[in-house]
Amino acid sequence: MSSAPKFVVLLGPPGAGKGTQAAFLREILGVPHVASGDLFREHLLNKTKFGRQVVSYIERGELVPDDLTTAMVMERLAQPDCQHGALLDGFPRTLGQAVALDEALAKQGHRICQVLNIVVPDEVLVERLSGRRVCRKCGAVYHIVHNPPHQDGACDRCGGELYQRDDDRPGTVRYRLKVYWEQTSPLIDYYKKQGVLVEINGNQSIEGVQAELKAAVTCDGRG
Ligand code: AMP
Repeated sequence: MSSAPKFVVLLGPPGAGKGTQAAFLREILGVPHVASGDLFREHLLNKTKFGRQVVSYIERGELVPDDLTTAMVMERLAQPDCQHGALLDGFPRTLGQAVALDEALAKQGHRICQVLNIVVPDEVLVERLSGRRVCRKCGAVYHIVHNPPHQDGACDRCGGELYQRDDDRPGTVRYRLKVYWEQTSPLIDYYKKQGVLVEINGNQSIEGVQAELKAAVTCDGRG
């Protein structure tokens, strides 16, 4: 197979449903899901030196500095399973990261083929994030009202324990949204100008978003 690698970016504010939709998209695209937030949480869980360097930013809901974040994601993208591309989720989150990613991909003769921007109003995001629960074992995402597990507190997929992320508590959620609007939303224009941005209405059922994503995904648009 000699088709060009598929680097697809999932863009959208925290709580837009990127993690939920990623499992579905990963199947369609046939590339690994690379979520910067998950990579950071792995470091925190394993108490690595890098984890100790970044923990205070994450706890406050602030962005980790670009150089640290970009190095971590690039290291992940250099793994053999990403040779045919990756579904990037939560990265890039600043213009600096977006430029660094473009430059790193260009060095290998690659580029981003599509950016899927999931759009959801702020008031819906606050409600979604505060009801979000995540599986400690496999990372599956639930919502206590809109997407509850069959059994309270347990993951449908693997039986793992569901927990609320510290940064999903109301005060931090509002701060993370502010950070999104100030630092991440400029990426919408950045990718629009590149002609790779597609908008997806994220304020509908999970199945509705899946259908829109399925119709929108194409990595041939850039010729
Ligand atoms: P997430 O799971 O994507 O909401 O990320 C959780 C936290 O990890 C964020 O609030 C940031 O502190 C940090 N983080 C994740 N991705 C990035 C990124 N691309 N740039 C900087 N910080 C990030």
